[in-house]
Amino acid sequence: MKKKTKVVILTLSCLLAVALAVGVLLGRNPHWLYIAGETLGVRCRKVAVKEAGPGKTEGRIPTAWGEDPRVTLDQSLLLVNEGYPLPEDFSPALTFYRDTEVPINECAEEAYGRLSEAVEKETGSRLFVSSSFREEEEQKELYEKDPSTANRPGASEHQTGLGLDVYVRYYAGFGFIKSEAGRFVNSHCWEYGFIIRYPSFGKKETGMKYEPWHIRYVGEPHAKIIYNNRLTLEEYLAGFEPGVWYEAEGYLLSRQEPDGEGRIFLPEEFSEAVISPDNTGAFLVTVKK
Ligand SMILES: [Zn+2]
Repeated sequence: MKKKTKVVILTLSCLLAVALAVGVLLGRNPHWLYIAGETLGVRCRKVAVKEAGPGKTEGRIPTAWGEDPRVTLDQSLLLVNEGYPLPEDFSPALTFYRDTEVPINECAEEAYGRLSEAVEKETGSRLFVSSSFREEEEQKELYEKDPSTANRPGASEHQTGLGLDVYVRYYAGFGFIKSEAGRFVNSHCWEYGFIIRYPSFGKKETGMKYEPWHIRYVGEPHAKIIYNNRLTLEEYLAGFEPGVWYEAEGYLLSRQEPDGEGRIFLPEEFSEAVISPDNTGAFLVTVKK
């Protein structure tokens, strides 16, 4: 190849690399989310929300939003950390897992059942829960005992029933990851709607060191996106520009701040939707097309 041709190719490659880099830097949307159509190409209709907002979820969450049977309201995407503690009047939607004495957020019950069955089938070990829902008082005691391992009261997602500390016989805590079941849970729990809430790479964002035993329900397709892109829940939620609709994994996703009239939007046509407050004042809307 002539020297001149080489220089031209090299220059063009450099220009392309710079253009890509600038595009990535200027791109307002993280690579794991894609803006759907022209703000979806989906016509959206306004949906009235009842008493929208965190801290307004006393008692059981109503099952329908705007009385639409396709819409489920749950608490699956609550962000709970030191920066976003739960409101004092927060009330988790709890149930007891399959007639046991393990309280769990009702949106996670079915998914946890499937995960624990898969663990047993794949590894032969039975998965147990050492800690699921904690009352504020219990969290306070743990925090006072050792603030380095427990969040301050209100800042622990154990108070939502969405976070579960799991173990198998002989392998609990950090030892969990040394077991086959622990490795399975860490690399496959996303298939069941769970994430490792405090991953080894996420201390800066979560404020917590790696906890291979603490799984957190977020539902589909969020768990898959979070796992595939090595994100923390903090980074994932921050990636949404409020009000914009995104398309990912066959779903339409939107993080919405209710408008002046307390309304959020849903596409005009869809089969199922899940709406969850995220504890920052916004709602995550997960729509199955
Ligand atoms: Zn935990």
